Amino acid sequence: MKNCVCGNEMQFIFGDVKFNDGLVIKNVPHYECDYCGEHSYDLSTKILKIAKKARIEKLTEVDFLEFTKERY
Ligand SMILES: [Zn+2]
Repeated sequence: MKNCVCGNEMQFIFGDVKFNDGLVIKNVPHYECDYCGEHSYDLSTKILKIAKKARIEKLTEVDFLEFTKERY
């Protein structure tokens, strides 16, 4: 368990991460706070690598689990 900045417990979930340019990475494991909606990504470095690769390949949507299974 992880505590949010608001003091409530954050839940570990698999969810979509949306970037400003429209890229979506699906099924990213991360923590989310039900109370204030704050997200916390422990794998941010890996997410950024995937985002970089997706942009090179001009993808608009990638699946985190598929991507990590294939290339890591
Ligand atoms: Zn919170």
